[in-house]
Amino acid sequence: MARGLDVWETRDVVTWDELVERMFLLDRRAGRIDGRWLPPAAAQLLWARIVRDDPQLNPLLSQAGLARAAAQSWRLMHDYGIPADAIDAEGNVETAAFSRWSREYRQRLRERDLVDLATAQSRVHAAAAAPGIELVGFDRLTPLQVELTAGWAREGIQVRTVACPAQPGTVGYVRYLDATAEIDAAARWAAALLDADAGRRVAIVVPDLASRRDEVRRRIERVLTPETGLTGGAEPETRAFEIAAARPLSRQPVVAAALELLDAFVGTPDLPTLGRLLRSPFIAGAEREAQARARLDARLRRATGPGVRIADLESHAATGGCPLLADALADGAGVLATWPEKSFPSACSEYVLSLLKSVGWPGAAPGSTEHQAEQRWRGLVSEFGGCDEFVGRVSRREAVGQLRDLAGRVLFEPRELQVPLLVTDPDSSAGMRFDALWVCGLDAAHWPRPAAPDPFLPRHLQLQRGVRGASAAIAAEEAREVLRRLLRSAAQVVLSVPEMEDDAPLMPSPLLAGIPAAVEIDQWQAGSAATTTFRHRPVLETLCDRALPPVGVDERTRGGARLLELQSACPFRAQAELRLGARGLEEPAPGVDASERGDLVHRSLAILWRELATQAALVALDAAGTRAVVRRAVAAALADARRSAGELMSQLLELEADWLEARVLEMVEADRARPPFEIESLERSMPAQIGPLRLDLRPDRVDRLGDGSLAVIDYKTGASAEVSAWLDERPRLPQLPAYVEALGAGRVAAVAFARVRSGDTGYVGIARRDGVFPGLRVPGGRGGPKGYASWEALLADWKRRLESLAAEFARGDARLAPDPANACEYCRLGALCRIAALNGVPEAEEAGDG
Ligand code: SF4
Repeated sequence: MARGLDVWETRDVVTWDELVERMFLLDRRAGRIDGRWLPPAAAQLLWARIVRDDPQLNPLLSQAGLARAAAQSWRLMHDYGIPADAIDAEGNVETAAFSRWSREYRQRLRERDLVDLATAQSRVHAAAAAPGIELVGFDRLTPLQVELTAGWAREGIQVRTVACPAQPGTVGYVRYLDATAEIDAAARWAAALLDADAGRRVAIVVPDLASRRDEVRRRIERVLTPETGLTGGAEPETRAFEIAAARPLSRQPVVAAALELLDAFVGTPDLPTLGRLLRSPFIAGAEREAQARARLDARLRRATGPGVRIADLESHAATGGCPLLADALADGAGVLATWPEKSFPSACSEYVLSLLKSVGWPGAAPGSTEHQAEQRWRGLVSEFGGCDEFVGRVSRREAVGQLRDLAGRVLFEPRELQVPLLVTDPDSSAGMRFDALWVCGLDAAHWPRPAAPDPFLPRHLQLQRGVRGASAAIAAEEAREVLRRLLRSAAQVVLSVPEMEDDAPLMPSPLLAGIPAAVEIDQWQAGSAATTTFRHRPVLETLCDRALPPVGVDERTRGGARLLELQSACPFRAQAELRLGARGLEEPAPGVDASERGDLVHRSLAILWRELATQAALVALDAAGTRAVVRRAVAAALADARRSAGELMSQLLELEADWLEARVLEMVEADRARPPFEIESLERSMPAQIGPLRLDLRPDRVDRLGDGSLAVIDYKTGASAEVSAWLDERPRLPQLPAYVEALGAGRVAAVAFARVRSGDTGYVGIARRDGVFPGLRVPGGRGGPKGYASWEALLADWKRRLESLAAEFARGDARLAPDPANACEYCRLGALCRIAALNGVPEAEEAGDG
């Protein structure tokens, strides 16, 4: 522009690896070189196959991880000139394994006349680099790069290393409490600078950005684009700041969705995966059916087991208001049906792309980032398609697994819009210049990074050749060079050091010696979105939202005894669950969960007592007869579950049957030891008027005792069944007191929990007087409930408390009042009641909303 040009040729900028590949292909076209190019994806698959086929490999080791590490060592070996025979001579287990694999790899390259990136470096000709190259952003060249570039220069190629000249300006370091406070301060500093001059180029460097990306983005958003905390705006970093830290391609949402779709078609997806697919914007009809698909997700969690096949999902979608999804899945299933169980990668790659197309991937309107990721993914699938000779025939699952593996190794960084603030890491910032730069995380524990020698190359050779990170001294020297470069890349540089990590104090890095403390750091002082919005609030109406309308005369009261339990634990929860129909999303897990186990216990005991009817019938049985009747009851209780169980679930149910049988036998022995009784009712529905509410109650079991009075029994498998659960002002488990009301206080002589759990099966409870039900406590007697002189006094208190709970519910009391305080741990309505916000806990932070 200074030269008055309107247009000019774009600089041809490539990475070192891209340069080598390009030079190889130019040399080949010009006839200067032989051999075929081996793309990095194919090289990776070749390493994986060699490691997998090694008969000496310990089967406990991760083959994929070893193959990845071996490929890296192969590259280092060439970059640092470590001879193969020196590795052969070393003779320890690791170098011997690498020596075997690299011999095999070299042999396969030779047989097929292939050249990979590592070996191509020393084969390319200087002519392919004509007329010249500039090296920008290389902190330290490898010995091979030094040798190559020197050789090219000798052959007349212009090779220029562009060093960043020091800029006059300021530098200082500053300390903050922890890494979070550091990022917050850096963001406020950047905001203040940009507020004063929006044309500046400002950067924040975060050393471990790849692993902290989401947390860093959230912190910076809070300062620069606080409205996104309220609106959840789309891709805010493209408007105010840009995070430049490449992530694996497999973690780009559009590619992650493609991989999950493929997994779902070639296997059986679990429900969390299915949930993500149902809410994915990258499938046909996502926007039009968003609501219906979210409802389908919730329904599937309740109605199905932990895994759902695509064919079943298709029929659920067809009947669940998602016809577009059903059509897309049917089209995908059509493509899958033509994909042979085993085929070469070239065929697999075509099936993969046409299956994704058939389900409408990547959706109607992919944004710029998605489009770039999609293109890279298509390129990767094509590269995989060129690997027939290294991979052979693979199953559909293997093909998808290998694509996932390849996408996990390709680092992808979309080209974003130019934005004022760049957030980057020390390596990615190499060669860049800024007006102002903030470098975080310069504490002694992380800067320099700890040594990380290569596991497969001889240690003494790594030290001799100066392999990156091979020793603490080399790592320190590298960190010093990077810091020197960062200090030169901006006129104004702030270096920051956190003081604490978890509870451990941190010291400043020794590499900061000689750098003065920063005098003054400008900070953007604007308040948070919440305080700003509050300050500008309009005149508000005052409305107390602690209540729902009272229960109407015609309103059906649902929930039975659970209504009283919920109202006692938290009035809001009772109103939300029983009157608004709110419920948390289920999280199905493999096996029998606690609530299903409770149901099986109830069902087994009900079936057993339906058959026996009296304690006399039980007493008449010998040990074998008792075992037989228990076994029949357990088998009948499990019959439904067994009919619909898959192979794994059937095995789990066998284990469950053993557990159930043992517990039911223990319970039966406890009943055998009691005085004679008959079964009065089993799970029989009975109405009860409790305060203003008419409730439908259903006690697990009522026994008629020898004197004609009744004992009410509630089966419990959890740890919470204690007498104390009835004695608080707001009773934790008010069911049994409510059953007493339903049966008539005068008729009941005992209430008991029948605890059914390993090592602790038996009765606990309260009886009117001694001898009625041995083992239960008696009011006024030894060990009886404190504060009650008689059974009648206890029943009177229970009646008052139940009526008070019922009255609260009837008038619509919906206070957030969890009691006990840990009631929220067992409740899934936290997102609806927003108790965290009320208690001052920032919800986004708690949820980790990255
Ligand atoms: S999360 Fe806690 S406060 Fe909220 S409804 Fe559940 S029990 Fe009540």
